[in-house]
Amino acid sequence: MKGVLLVRETLFYLLQLASGRARQMGRRRKKTLRVIHRTLPKVFACPRCGLISIRITSEQDEASQDTVFRVTCGNPNCPLHAGREMRYATRRADIDVYNTFVDDYAKAGA
Ligand SMILES: [Zn+2]
Repeated sequence: MKGVLLVRETLFYLLQLASGRARQMGRRRKKTLRVIHRTLPKVFACPRCGLISIRITSEQDEASQDTVFRVTCGNPNCPLHAGREMRYATRRADIDVYNTFVDDYAKAGA
């Protein structure tokens, strides 16, 4: 009886060890993905304040596989400083995202 209990405890311990290791591997892979898909921030002209202070960063949404771009003005007094999120199913160049952003901004008339 004692022997059976010991085997069960050992199995339980191994199971925990294995699942813990799998979780760790998953987390590490996520981190690598984010680094690969991050682009170097480039600077563009802001359609609101006119400064060359628009930065576009991107990362991949692991759940939906969308590429999520964040367009932010570096001028703290600019309304666009809060940043705007733009989501695409495929990757695209920062300049294309910027052009769409400026077009949307002009259309909104804000
Ligand atoms: Zn601005």
